[in-house]
Amino acid sequence: MRPTMGSGVTAIIVAAGSGQRAGGGVPKQFRPIAGKPVLAHAFDAMAASRAIDRILVVVGDGQQDAARQALQDRTSAALIVGGATRRESVLAALEYLVDRGIDGSVLIHDAARPFLAPVVIDRLLTALKDTSGAIPVLAVADTLARGHEGVLGDVVDRSGVLRVQTPQAFAINVILDAHRRWPADREATDDAQMARAAGHAVATVEGDAMLDKITTVADFHAAEARIAAAMSVRTGFGYDVHRLVEKESLWLCGVLVPHDKGLSGHSDADVALHAVVDAMLGALAEGDIGAHFPPSDPKWRGAASARFLEFARDRVTARGGTISHVDVTIVCEAPKIGPHRDAMRARLAELLKIAPDRVSVKATTTERLGFAGRGEGIAAQAVATLNLPNLD
Ligand code: MG
Repeated sequence: MRPTMGSGVTAIIVAAGSGQRAGGGVPKQFRPIAGKPVLAHAFDAMAASRAIDRILVVVGDGQQDAARQALQDRTSAALIVGGATRRESVLAALEYLVDRGIDGSVLIHDAARPFLAPVVIDRLLTALKDTSGAIPVLAVADTLARGHEGVLGDVVDRSGVLRVQTPQAFAINVILDAHRRWPADREATDDAQMARAAGHAVATVEGDAMLDKITTVADFHAAEARIAAAMSVRTGFGYDVHRLVEKESLWLCGVLVPHDKGLSGHSDADVALHAVVDAMLGALAEGDIGAHFPPSDPKWRGAASARFLEFARDRVTARGGTISHVDVTIVCEAPKIGPHRDAMRARLAELLKIAPDRVSVKATTTERLGFAGRGEGIAAQAVATLNLPNLD
């Protein structure tokens, strides 16, 4: 995405709905699918397209915090507050662009259609070269019929009947003109009908069944299942040992633990984080911590191991995956881990950007046997479970 101002293509994602039919006590655009909010799915789909220059997210008044939380570090999103209806929200976004001297074209999209394939964007923008508006549509496969109070009526001729989807693409001046001319006391079904009412031609391109609107609890379950079918569960194991010595700090799971000794090593020697990093790299099949952060390299001397964990986390993201679960066991005679367990889980969850209930920290002694039992060192074992996209 090129953060240029001026012309180009602007995506407007309308996420101002307040409908909670999908459950969860929050509007559906903020509910997660496969651990990622619907709005974030929609944003990422737009952001993945090289044709899109900027993304504007329109939320309802009072939804700014929920939207920022859903978008997390997607800081390139411009967030604006829309109106009481979808039409007013889109108009607010168009006025925002015009106020900033931005022209070119817009893709007006509903956050509730989060699975937008790049090919649909390409079709729309190609069609827009020859017309003032373009929308994705699908033919209707089911028989259509009227009905009244539980009794079937006449069949409706479905020839020429289309299912209309978003995003809908327009030249900005065209759709702004259509919005400004539309009577304020009437609601529109979508932007394309407003463009038509203002006398502009709107072309149709092939839509995508994946673009169907997500509305009900069943829609959410179906979307979860679809994503799950395209992903594989991968498990990795990690193991590490560091020596306990005088005059060192004891870092475990990114937490400074008060103790009369600490772990020695090239970095901060956080044995538990090292085991988690190796577990994650194992699940990715991308080597081990020593391959990425060689102890022979002076730049890692005294380094905070949190950096290694962030590296592994970002590798998962770069591969299109998610971290499902991390489980680490610390093996030592002392100190006691129990009092620090919650802080360790919280720190791991923070570094991995996952919920604390996806992080487990356990500890055991070895009944005074072996190096751990004699207090000569601390060992850690970890298992990481990732979801990674299938390559075939
Ligand atoms: Mg190590």
